[in-house]
Amino acid sequence: MDYDLKITGGTLVDGTGNPGYRGDIGIKDGIITALGEVVGNASQTINATGKAVTPGFVDIHTHYDAQVIWDRMLSISPWHGVTTVVLGNCGFGVAPTRPHQRDLIVGTLEKVEGMSPAALNAGLGDDWPFETFPEYLDTIENLGTAINVGVLVGHTPIRLYVMGEEATEREASDDEIEQMRKIVDEAMDAGALGFATSKSPTHVGFKGRPVPSRVASLSEFDALSSTLEGRGAVMQVTAGKGFWFDEYAELSKKYGITISWTAMLAGMASPDSHLAQQKRSAELADEGLPIVPQVTPRPLCFEFQFKEPFPFEALSVFKPISRADFDGKKQLYANPEFRRAVMDKMDTVRPSFRTAWENSIINSCDSQPEYNERTVSEVAEELGVHTMELGFDLALANNLETRFRMPVANADETEVEKLITDKNTVIGLSDAGAHASQLCDACLPTYLLARWVREKQVISFEEAIRMLSSRPAEVFGIKDRGLLQVGRPADVLVIDPETVNCGRLDRVFDLPAGEDRLISQAIGMEAVIVNGTILRTRGEDQLDPNGPLPGALLRNGQAQS
Ligand SMILES: [Zn+2]
Repeated sequence: MDYDLKITGGTLVDGTGNPGYRGDIGIKDGIITALGEVVGNASQTINATGKAVTPGFVDIHTHYDAQVIWDRMLSISPWHGVTTVVLGNCGFGVAPTRPHQRDLIVGTLEKVEGMSPAALNAGLGDDWPFETFPEYLDTIENLGTAINVGVLVGHTPIRLYVMGEEATEREASDDEIEQMRKIVDEAMDAGALGFATSKSPTHVGFKGRPVPSRVASLSEFDALSSTLEGRGAVMQVTAGKGFWFDEYAELSKKYGITISWTAMLAGMASPDSHLAQQKRSAELADEGLPIVPQVTPRPLCFEFQFKEPFPFEALSVFKPISRADFDGKKQLYANPEFRRAVMDKMDTVRPSFRTAWENSIINSCDSQPEYNERTVSEVAEELGVHTMELGFDLALANNLETRFRMPVANADETEVEKLITDKNTVIGLSDAGAHASQLCDACLPTYLLARWVREKQVISFEEAIRMLSSRPAEVFGIKDRGLLQVGRPADVLVIDPETVNCGRLDRVFDLPAGEDRLISQAIGMEAVIVNGTILRTRGEDQLDPNGPLPGALLRNGQAQS
């Protein structure tokens, strides 16, 4: 046979942004060996007439660090055309972790990434199959994955590894910084894609304390960034006060590194705060500095319950809640003094946050189902109570199970358009694998193609494919993905541009220990091919999740042959 697989008759959209053209693809031994008019026979043929044939998508911002251990299929990313994911974002990896500190890592993921500790513990087991970062990479490689995986080494586990619980409390000594630097260096040698960290005030970890990286000094950030010099590696940062544009510019200049920060969202700090961020990004780009904000085409909506009130935990008044256990939380929510303090705080909090809360949709409120799908402000006005009183009352009436869907940011499409069409940005922040019960943005590729390409016609199909494939690969130093090109690994999608879409969010209970998550089905994703192997056709997995799988571990951004 000339080819293992041929895809014939489709429109080739190669990921460069260039116009699509009618052509075939020939694939042999996992590699694209022919493009255009492909003659010769093949063991398998996919007829793609009337469809687009594109490179597989690269999702640079996922949190599959734990899930990869129990779910080799890395659902649901491949459903939506993602054939390469990056783990370790925001600095929240799971390695290195000493056995006696596993609870602290689980506690951190639970708090900052809304992951169920029951699911994490059941999924990771009592005896994690790794301690160091190089061992973690080997574990992923040995387990095998359906799609390709690149891993950032995370600041939070490194700091905990070196400093223990004090990592959440104080700056590191020179000696501790040196130990951390060595761990990053060793991780890079083993094949990390780069280094990730967070300074974000929203990242509150175990016992209500800041996540370890937030306590780091600038000299620590400097020392750890220095290990990336000359390696073509990326640094991912969740931005926060004191570690943003100026500091990135300095580090990027000093060490020649790309820094991709999370996230530039419309209406986050104030209705137009993103415009100033865009302006600053353009200035840095003009200076030739690769400092790339991550943006998302989707509104950022959190479904939360007051038992884990993630959107509120950046407010100082919620500190006692972050520290309290379940019963303690209920007592506080019922306490008039606490309520008063929260209501006062809401008067002085940034207006965009207050509006987001007031516009939150009530859902799964069993005690008063008549309020479901109505906004908090509407119902509060009807009852003549403060919106926070209403929130706490509805929460307490249902043992803190009532859900609220809060449009935290990126809700105004006029503003979102400015961000996603800005050439200095990159599509990111799917947060796939995280906030599993609160949101599901792993479907953002099919959403982009449906909403922004077909419905709003703001972006051409070719440009959207570039934004989902070669652009993120280039920013993250993923060298062999993102383009349809002879000689490259065959990560290929067959897409129906007329129907491609993401389905509504459904709550399912398929995580370890029967925990729940939100999922979205893909529509119009006709075939997903990873390294030449057909992984999915027409929305169904074609491979046994317990059998051999085609994904590769991308060490230093490249599959090792
Ligand atoms: Zn993240």
